[in-house]
Amino acid sequence: MKQVTIISGKGGTGKTTITAAFAALARNAVLADCDVDAADLHLILKPVVKKTVGFHGLAVATIDEEKCIKCMDCVNHCQFDAITEDIKIKYEACEGCGVCELVCPVNAATMIQRDSGLLFESETRFGPMVHARLNTAEESSGKLVTEVRHHAEDVAKKRDKDVVLIDGPPGVGCPVISAITGVDLVVIVTEPTFSGIHDLKRVIDVANHFEIPQAIIINKKDINPKKTNEIKSFCENHDIPLLGSIPYDTLATKAMIEEKAIPEYDKGNVTSSIIESWAALRNVLNLS
Ligand code: SF4
Ligand code: SF4
Repeated sequence: MKQVTIISGKGGTGKTTITAAFAALARNAVLADCDVDAADLHLILKPVVKKTVGFHGLAVATIDEEKCIKCMDCVNHCQFDAITEDIKIKYEACEGCGVCELVCPVNAATMIQRDSGLLFESETRFGPMVHARLNTAEESSGKLVTEVRHHAEDVAKKRDKDVVLIDGPPGVGCPVISAITGVDLVVIVTEPTFSGIHDLKRVIDVANHFEIPQAIIINKKDINPKKTNEIKSFCENHDIPLLGSIPYDTLATKAMIEEKAIPEYDKGNVTSSIIESWAALRNVLNLS
């Protein structure tokens, strides 16, 4: 079973549209939405939730007021200013370090699990999907990405799927690292613009750091042919496979509004280029 993460240096490059299109073309895949801070793959794939699991992020401190002798040791040792002068935990500020529990002389301060979100195992018209929802103001998205990946891997093993298609988060931060670590291939969706190329290089640096093989898809190739050629040369010079170049077309937006993947909506050039990209991806991964 292979794992592929589709990412982009920033949002708005068509990453999720392309992931949904690949989902429509894949015959035996599990889909994983790891863009947990702004999940939108479900808007196209319309998953029907079959199983919901609670997600616990960082631990959080709690104070047993009946045991507390108000010695103030926890207040004085908390590096995150997360305990008030009247010995109340500021839930949002607590980093779960556990120091208050260590210093408390009467075991009044203890650590409990924090409810940070929900993880879903679902069915879509293209196969099983694992996705998640982070509670408002929760920041453990890297950990939640890891949980989504683990669940998707389990589903793939149980159901004998040959690939896990992961819609990764934008940017180059902690959630992206969680989404790409250990995968067989990172597919970077880029646009032929100055900022697109800049973001592409940043995300390649991250993938190189973790020694993850990469491939590139150019989306909206015709908005700037000169920059498209620049990306093609970059791929050749750095020995990075270019899976395909997809033309710009407003049908991508129209398909999304109709909650369809592009191959369900269009039988023209855009779908042809996506089919070619998918075939190239399967070839790179040696998938039958
Ligand atoms: S767990 Fe750490 S951050 Fe949270 S209240 Fe205790 S000492 Fe402060
Ligand atoms: S260290 Fe323990 S006893 Fe002292 S103020 Fe904090 S919770 Fe109360």
